[in-house]
Formats: sequence, structure tokens, C-alpha cells
Amino acid sequence: MTVTSADRKPAEAVSSGEPLEYTPRPAIWADVPDEKWNDWRWQMSHRLNTVEELEQVINLTDEEREALNAEGLFRVDITPYFASLLEPDDPWGPIRHQVIPKGRELVKFDSMMADSLAEDEHSPVPGLVHRYPDRVLMLVTTQCATYCRYCTRSRVVGDPSANFSRADHDAQIEYLRKTPQVRDVLLSGGDPLTMPQRMLEDLLRRLREIPHIEVLRIGSRVPVFLPQRITDDLVEMLRQFHPLWINIHVNHPKEITPELSRALARLADAGIPLGNQSVLLRDVNDSPEVQLELVHKLVKNRVRPYYLYQCDLVQGAGHFRTPVSVGIEIMEALRGHTSGFAVPTYVIDAPGGGGKIPLMPNYVLSMSPGRIVLRNYEGFITTYREPDEPYQRRRLYLEKPPREEGAQKGVAALNAGEHLTIKPEGYDEIHRRGRKGEPPKRGRRNYEDRYD
Ligand SMILES: *Cc1c(COP(=O)(O)O)cnc(C)c1O
Repeated sequence: MTVTSADRKPAEAVSSGEPLEYTPRPAIWADVPDEKWNDWRWQMSHRLNTVEELEQVINLTDEEREALNAEGLFRVDITPYFASLLEPDDPWGPIRHQVIPKGRELVKFDSMMADSLAEDEHSPVPGLVHRYPDRVLMLVTTQCATYCRYCTRSRVVGDPSANFSRADHDAQIEYLRKTPQVRDVLLSGGDPLTMPQRMLEDLLRRLREIPHIEVLRIGSRVPVFLPQRITDDLVEMLRQFHPLWINIHVNHPKEITPELSRALARLADAGIPLGNQSVLLRDVNDSPEVQLELVHKLVKNRVRPYYLYQCDLVQGAGHFRTPVSVGIEIMEALRGHTSGFAVPTYVIDAPGGGGKIPLMPNYVLSMSPGRIVLRNYEGFITTYREPDEPYQRRRLYLEKPPREEGAQKGVAALNAGEHLTIKPEGYDEIHRRGRKGEPPKRGRRNYEDRYD
């Protein structure tokens, strides 16, 4: 087969003069002038949230109506652009299922928690979650462009009267100023790209002024829900703050429209490295085939699949959960079968606040002194012979001394021989049976740091 230049035509014809492709609009918006439709402010102020509004775009089921009329429902709000992707006649359509509530989201399930990641416990000041040694999660707003039904932060997100204040932002920045081990700040919420641009710019500028902060990141689903917001002006503002990384959130290939592709091209052209964090969602993307299609479409848009999250134990997400084996099955179907950079890391964000824990199939089958037995994605089994000489590492050149992680060094400290054990809280007391009053042995070979 010969490949012509026409076959290599990029998906987007931004500069070629060809008419741009757009997602078709439902009839109710047929008469909206393009300048309005393409204006993110118009999109934000015409979001849909009632039965009456949604009925003009989709045929609601009884279960959807029941949810939309229920007391205490997590906020519903959908931009007209994203609503134009909803499957009008299929309540199990992968777009519709993510944003239109169903009665079953109100059903409680075993092990459900409000704050399943214990973020509030790891919060030195409101909105700042400092769980890892060198990076923090900074919640800067409670507002989003559209609300996901399985929101992991539904306890704080959605209420327009409970947003972070200027004083909260000041306190967050003050904490970061005096916490030199933080080198990476991840702005999230809510969705930082829904904030007034001046407010976001001011935050980014103040963070950039802190010398020990090396990398800034924004986690945002705005490109997906409201690609109109990714204007040249916004991108020019963001690119002042490099190195700045953005992680978006796409769960299904249908979300990657011509509009999203153009927004991503703008961000990538401004030198912003793009990643994607998706959530493994039952009835949306819980198959190897959908995941493969998704990661291929992402990398074509210069977005590197970053994490695939196991669904959190949070109210509203019960019916989206899958067995963990589904995630493992997906990882087995991706690794080796496609480009390495298209394979995300599958993680469980540990309930109770342990952070992200990666999961994958086992590739190590066995070991003996000097040999490791491995299998590849095809089931081919091989042996790697280790060097015969005893291994001694030379002192390697470093530009600066490594940052001190203190008590968080964890299992790496066991590898380094700095500690012999890590003990659960109360371990020594339990095992001092009958020897009350005798103090527990302490010393270099007794890891006393507690992980609480
Ligand atoms: C996910 C997360 C981060 C960032 O983790 P990375 O693995 O570096 O992407 C930081 N803090 C908190 C609390 C998080 O949940």
C-alpha cells in the first residue's frame, strides 16, 4: 500500500483554510449564533440542570427523573456543548451516564465514605492536601464547568456559596512559602480553569515567586466540558508560568471531539505537557477495547495517558465501581500490545489516605540466586542472568544533596538498610505481653516512625 500525503492529513485543519469541524448541535440550539455558542461565558451561563431543560435535549427515563427531583442530590450542571454529546435515547450511553444522575446514585453501599482518601486529615490549611513528601494538592475552587456523577470530592465541590476565599488562598501560599520540601504544586478543586482568569493568574504568579517550587500542575476537565474556554488569551497567560503541566480527564473516546482536539493542540503548542487521568467506570470504559481506543486517540492528540483510577469509595459512585480484576485485565491488554507511552498506570487511591498504589499483572514468575524468570505480554517465558560479581554501587555525581524525606522514606528506607522493620501503630505494646513497664527496645535497627 502506498501512503500519500493525503493519508497523513492531520485530524485538524487549523491553518489550512479548510472549514473547521464541529460537533453537531441539538435542535434547541440551532439558532444560537456561532459567536455565542463558541463563547465560554455563554456556555457557562446556559448550563442545563433541571428536568425541563434536560428534556429538551434527551429523553429522560423515570430513574433519571427520580434522581433529578431528589433532595440532596449532588449538583447537576452541564454545558450546552457537552450536552450536545449526550446520547438522547440511551440512558447507558457513556457520555450521558457520566453526567446525568440516576436514582441508584442515591443508594448507599458498604464501605462508602464521604472523604474516602482522608484528604481532610492531611490538610494543614483549608484546601491544601500535603500527603506526599515533595508535592501538594492545592484545591483552589469548588466550582466545575460540568459535574461528574462519580465525583471523588463531592463533599466539597458544587456549592457556589462554599468556595475558597482570598484568605484561604493566602493561607495556602503562606504554608507553601515556609515548606521548602515542596517542589511540585498541583492545582485542582473543583476546576481551576473555571476561575476568573485574573485570580488564577495571580495564584500562579505568587506560586512561581516561591523559589523552591519547581513545577506547577493544573488538573482540569474544562478542555473536555468547555473547550471554548481554551482561548489564545488563556493559553498566553498560562505559558508565562512554565514549567506548567496540565492533566485533563477523559474517560471515553467519544469525548474527544474536534473542539477538544483543537483546545489540546493550543495547549500542546504552548509547550504545556499534557496528561490524562481517567477513572475506570462501569458501563463507560470498563473494557480493554474501549481503553485501547481511548489511549490511541489521546496520544494522537499529544496527551499522554497518566493514571487510570480505580473508582473511589464515595457516595454516588457505587454503581460505577468495577472489580479490581477488570483494571488488571485492561492493563494486561494494553502493556506490550501498544506503545509504552500510551499505557497509563492503574492505581487505587488508598482508602484512609495512603495515596496512590499502582497495580499491574505480575511479570516476575520466579527467582533464584543469579537468575530472574520473567514472562512477557505474549506469555513467552524467559530468564535474565544477573551479573556474577558482587554488586557495589559507586558514589555517583549529584548536583545537590537529596531532599530529606524524614519519616516518609517508607519501604525505601528498608532497602537502604536504614531500618529493619516498619511497625503498625501499637505493635510494640501488643507484643510486650506480660512485661509491663519494660520500655520497648529502641535503636537504629528498630523503625519507630509511625505512619498515622
Ligand atoms: C494524586 C495526588 C498528588 C500527585 O500525585 P502524583 O503521583 O505525583 O501525580 C499529590 N497529592 C495528592 C493528595 C494526590 O492525591
